[in-house]
Amino acid sequence: MPSLVDLDPPGLRDELSAAGFPPSHATHILRRFYARQGTLDTWPEQIGPRIARWLREQEPAPATKLHTRHESADGTVKLLLSLNDGKSIETVLMPAHRPGRAAGCVSSQVGCAMGCTFCASTRNGLDRNLRPGEIVEQFLHLQREAAAMDRRLTSLVFMGMGEPMHNLDNVIAAIHRIADPAMGGLGWRQITVSTVGIVPGIDALADADLNVHLALSLHAADDETRSRIVPVNNRYPVADVMAAARRFADRTHRIPTIEYCLLAGVNDSPLHARRLAELMAGFRAHVNLIPYNTIAGADYRAPEERATMQFLQCLRDANIIVHVRETRGDPINAACGQLRNLNSLELHAPVLVPSPGIPGEG
Ligand code: SF4
Repeated sequence: MPSLVDLDPPGLRDELSAAGFPPSHATHILRRFYARQGTLDTWPEQIGPRIARWLREQEPAPATKLHTRHESADGTVKLLLSLNDGKSIETVLMPAHRPGRAAGCVSSQVGCAMGCTFCASTRNGLDRNLRPGEIVEQFLHLQREAAAMDRRLTSLVFMGMGEPMHNLDNVIAAIHRIADPAMGGLGWRQITVSTVGIVPGIDALADADLNVHLALSLHAADDETRSRIVPVNNRYPVADVMAAARRFADRTHRIPTIEYCLLAGVNDSPLHARRLAELMAGFRAHVNLIPYNTIAGADYRAPEERATMQFLQCLRDANIIVHVRETRGDPINAACGQLRNLNSLELHAPVLVPSPGIPGEG
């Protein structure tokens, strides 16, 4: 039998029937499984000891295993997870300012083929797509981390390693299990799928009618600057990706987020800000300014605070909804791909923090 993270209620009903158990237990079993953050021990008495024992016998070993856990002073926790084929991925938990809540960030691929010049995830190219169960297990790891700090995981972004639109079928399958009240129960609106601008993927996500949010990593409003830092812009230029974001907004009635990573001397000038303001005119979207997170060996620098504030003010003067995203987890290399690269290159012994109360992890 596949793992419970790879089954939805109809699939589990089939498995139960084939094993001679009442299929009507499927929904209850999945709900309990997710409510207990993916653990199968000490449950579920209501469905009877025979089914409980059968489930425990059938459930394969997890597809992901905690390899390294880093925690920064601001409470951001970054997990390096090993996969069964020896690859590794990253997933991040960020405590929210509101007490009792936390946001998660998951990976969709091992590595990334997109080649964004400021990103550590792409340094070794794309290894492979993640399977739905490997994405769902990241969600379960994050739920357990959140519970260990007396918080609840209340939102999830696909902003870790990889381009989600290049693994969209598996991402959508995972979203169903994570969001559906009959399984993970996180809620559709609590999920954001980020893309560097794969136009057919944006349209396909709108067609999937999931009620999730879209984040578009724009990083520059003109093709010349954007192509320098986001090579896929040569295939899907600014006008095309913005048109796709507008179509998504029209179809789904969800307000997209435009992500803009500020790189000193590259895309953070007043002229770049004015171009972005012009591009956003008449488009109902949020702009998130993200001051670059400096990484060892990179060609880029974090912007001056004054440049960030000027950029922000220029957009505000144009009546654009804009925020500066707080940089989280610097001391633990929280930008995507940094931990994995650090680990694989063995530049430093990672700072290992004992994992409090994560069932099944050493
Ligand atoms: S920023 Fe995203 S899309 Fe670009 S290389 Fe990194 S992981 Fe891939």
